[in-house]
Amino acid sequence: MKLSHRITHLTEGGTDGWDVFYRARQMIAEGHAVTELTIGEHDIPTSPDILEQMYASATGGHTGYAMIPGTDLLRDTVAARVQWRTGVKTTRHNVLITPGGQAALFAAHVALCAPGDVGLFLEPYYATYPGTIRAAGAVAKAVETRAEDAFQPRADLIEAQADGAVSLLINTPNNPTGVVYSAETLSAIADLCHRRDLWLISDEVYDSQVWEGIHLSPRALPGMAERTLVVGSMSKSHAMTGSRCGWIIGPEEVIDHLITLATHTNYGVPGFIQDAASYALSAGQALEDEVAAPFRRRREMAMQLLARQNTIGLIPAQGAMYLMLDIRATGLSGVEFANALLDAHSIAVMPGESFGASAAGHIRVAMTVDDERLATSLQILSDFAAQLSRDRGAA
Ligand code: PMP
Repeated sequence: MKLSHRITHLTEGGTDGWDVFYRARQMIAEGHAVTELTIGEHDIPTSPDILEQMYASATGGHTGYAMIPGTDLLRDTVAARVQWRTGVKTTRHNVLITPGGQAALFAAHVALCAPGDVGLFLEPYYATYPGTIRAAGAVAKAVETRAEDAFQPRADLIEAQADGAVSLLINTPNNPTGVVYSAETLSAIADLCHRRDLWLISDEVYDSQVWEGIHLSPRALPGMAERTLVVGSMSKSHAMTGSRCGWIIGPEEVIDHLITLATHTNYGVPGFIQDAASYALSAGQALEDEVAAPFRRRREMAMQLLARQNTIGLIPAQGAMYLMLDIRATGLSGVEFANALLDAHSIAVMPGESFGASAAGHIRVAMTVDDERLATSLQILSDFAAQLSRDRGAA
């Protein structure tokens, strides 16, 4: 039987860049000890306090169908967080609760892009972006950001691809680069959106993980609240990846349509999960800082450790739980380096190429193991790179 082109071409038939990751998983399944610095998942579970609230809500009866747009309590709590952080007036009518940020990214593109419309996204990109845009029926078009610009997006490069585009997806703090977009970058992007009449989809799931500078939401820029959908999530800020709870913030009219979409797709998010999320969010920034603290500490440690060598370049790690390392001095591609490191030292990292060609010659390290193990692994990694670079010089 024939399947739809949309589903068979979701990843455009190529490898999805996760070969090293699958190989590491296979090695672990065969009993090898592998240090996994691949995916963005905390090394701590969801806090017992939050789980207690979840349990109390479920045993208290909140196990039936929940309100499809989200409970009033969670929508109000999310709206208050957004308004407090950005100064933009936000009510529950600007909020749709979704099963994680991923579902929000999909719904946003369904809402904004008609079949065949171009949805722009920036490279290097979070692994699911192009497939999500295609799943929504749109044409996914990548715009590069460049290592020489420290991966800050450039409005002129975006503009060069803007013909036929209706939306632009951005992500700050950024996965995979760890870059936080500057005020200048965001105002140039906002200006471009006005000029080219683009919707902006702003993925801000790492907004609680900023190590340098400040997180600015483009929705707060003049005239942007009417053309911006913000994607948020409990996953990274509260170590609740498995709970599948996120949101979209946008103009009321868009949210109304998205509620209709939710009614015909996922039918909302479990009430006991939403109650746990409301509880977690009402603990305020102190809890978010606590969850972010290990990454802040490890990033500081990594910067000190990498400052002692000169083979690997560190892209300024301004936010999120990743380090983007430039390994071009070794003469290897990101894929070759990641495979060689896994074979020689059982350390798994993501090749830059898995996030698009503009991250070629780089690797992404997730800071998701304890401090000591991360320090040891980075030392091994940098010694390995230095040796490769020396061998190359000698050859
Ligand atoms: N956006 C980015 C940039 C991400 O890194 C992730 C998860 N790794 C998501 C969205 C989706 O997160 P979730 O669905 O868990 O909220």
